[in-house]
This record gives sequence, C-alpha cells and structure tokens, in this order.
Amino acid sequence: MTITEPGNDARVIAIDGPSGTGKSSVAREVARRLGAGYLDTGAMYRALTLAVLTEGLDPADAGKVAARAEGLVIDITTDPENHKVFADGRDVTVAIRSAEVSAAVSAVSAVSAVRRRLIRLQRQLAQGSTIVVEGRDIGTVVFPDAPLKIYLTATPSARATRRAEQLGVSDPGEIAGLTESLRRRDDFDTTRVVSPLRPAPDAVLVDSTDMSEEEVVEAILAAVTARGRTE
Ligand code: C5P
Repeated sequence: MTITEPGNDARVIAIDGPSGTGKSSVAREVARRLGAGYLDTGAMYRALTLAVLTEGLDPADAGKVAARAEGLVIDITTDPENHKVFADGRDVTVAIRSAEVSAAVSAVSAVSAVRRRLIRLQRQLAQGSTIVVEGRDIGTVVFPDAPLKIYLTATPSARATRRAEQLGVSDPGEIAGLTESLRRRDDFDTTRVVSPLRPAPDAVLVDSTDMSEEEVVEAILAAVTARGRTE
C-alpha cells in the first residue's frame, strides 16, 4: 500500500504524541510540503471543552459532557494554510488555546461517547484525500491501517521549554506551572481507559528533543518516501 492510494486509511499520515513535541507545527508543515490536507484532532476535543466550560458544565461530569457533545456542531478546516475551528458556527480557533481549556480537555476527551462521536467525524473529514492527521490515538484507533504512523516524543523538560517559548512565557514560576500542567495532561492521556496515548506497534518513533522543527519535518518526509517505495 502506498500513501497515495485511495481508500479509507490509505492516504492518512498519522502523527501522534504528547503535547509540546512541536507536533502541530510539524504536522502542518509536512501537509504543506506534500500538498496534503491537515487535521488537528486535538482542536476538536478543545472545541467541545470550550463549550462545556462556557456553559458552566462540570468537565468531570461524563454524562453532561456526552450530552453536550451530541448537540454540538464542530466544523474544522483541513487546509494547512487556513486552520480554523468552529463550534455551533462560532469561530473558536483562538479561544480553544486558553489555559482553562488546556486544563479541562483531558477529562472531556476521556469520555468514551465523546471519542466515538469525534472519531466518526475525523474519519469523515479524512475521507478520500491525502491528509496528515495529528492527535493521540490516530495510529492506534482512528486510522489503524494508515500506511505511515509517526510517534513524536521529546523529554518532558524539552516539551515544557518549547511550550513556554510558544506562549512567550519566561517567568520561572509560570514555566513551572506549564511543566506541571503538561505532566498532568500526559498522566491523564496515557492512563485513561479509552484510547490511551501510546505508540502504535508499527509507528516510526521520532524523538524531537535535540532536533529543530525543520529536521523533524525532513525526517517525516523521508519516512513518507521510504514507505511509499517499500510497501
Ligand atoms: O493536541 P492538543 O494538545 O491540542 O490536544 C488536547 C487534548 O485533547 C489532549 O491532551 C488529549 O486529552 C485530547 N486528545 C485526544 N485524542 C486526540 C487528540 C487530542 O484525546 N486524538
């Protein structure tokens, strides 16, 4: 199977891994260079989390969260040049990046009814086009037959530093807070019962700790070329 063959999973490049590995920037750049689509599945979980918080619901109340997920219309663009997320028609592209959403999103994404609904949507969005899909369970659950799966990692301190740079934070207290928030989210995402974060058995592991973004992009593009030739 090659990356360019039609079919359900056949054109998907799955990129999974924890936060702060540079996953989003890398995934988007890989999509640009391949002329492919780009889907940020974390943004979908964030859009639901924002709706839950805005409406004063408890993110830990699985029943209420699942009911809200049923009624929420999430639209997300798959153009790497124009990444936008809408919830019930409202542009939430910026609002979903708040610290409040980051702190609550793991609880929301651990609800199995939420995952079922968003996974269905992710599969529809990826239908029939070459697309780079980033998340936590893309290679393991959403597209288990994707011809190329990347698992992007980095040490916790490298990830916290990168996240601090992205947010323009330099105060040591705030950096410590970010590190703690990343650690909490990692714990939650890797130990949850449904779709825990873990590499697919056939994933290519890329450790970005000592790599520039360009080096990671090139490593993934090389893996795309290698897979296309050998399978
Ligand atoms: O990628 P990002 O950090 O924006 O993802 C936010 C959260 O959404 C993650 O911490 C995780 O809880 C959840 N998520 C998930 N499955 C995905 C993508 C994200 O559970 N495929």
